[in-house]
Amino acid sequence: MKYKLYNLEITVIGDKNTFNCSHEVGDTLVIEGENLSFKAGTVLFSHYALATLMPYIAAKQRADDVRDWMSYETDIACPDPQCGARFRFEKTGKQEYKYAPSELHD
Ligand SMILES: [Zn+2]
Repeated sequence: MKYKLYNLEITVIGDKNTFNCSHEVGDTLVIEGENLSFKAGTVLFSHYALATLMPYIAAKQRADDVRDWMSYETDIACPDPQCGARFRFEKTGKQEYKYAPSELHD
């Protein structure tokens, strides 16, 4: 069984002067399938922010109906109410995957 998922980049945006956390503008997570990595130049990423973003990652990998708000809303706020950082989701491509549980055990 084959299916497709979007690759994503999630980038810190906003005015650094309004950040209450250690975010740096431009820090970026790269999502490809089940894997998460840092884009070159990104050293740290708040696990509190990541916990907030996690539910959106799987949903945004799949959302492709243009009328579905999950497709067109791009920015998620930092969970710290005193922090002005936002995390911008961008679809960077689409990749095909194969789900074949019976083949996993061969
Ligand atoms: Zn923050």
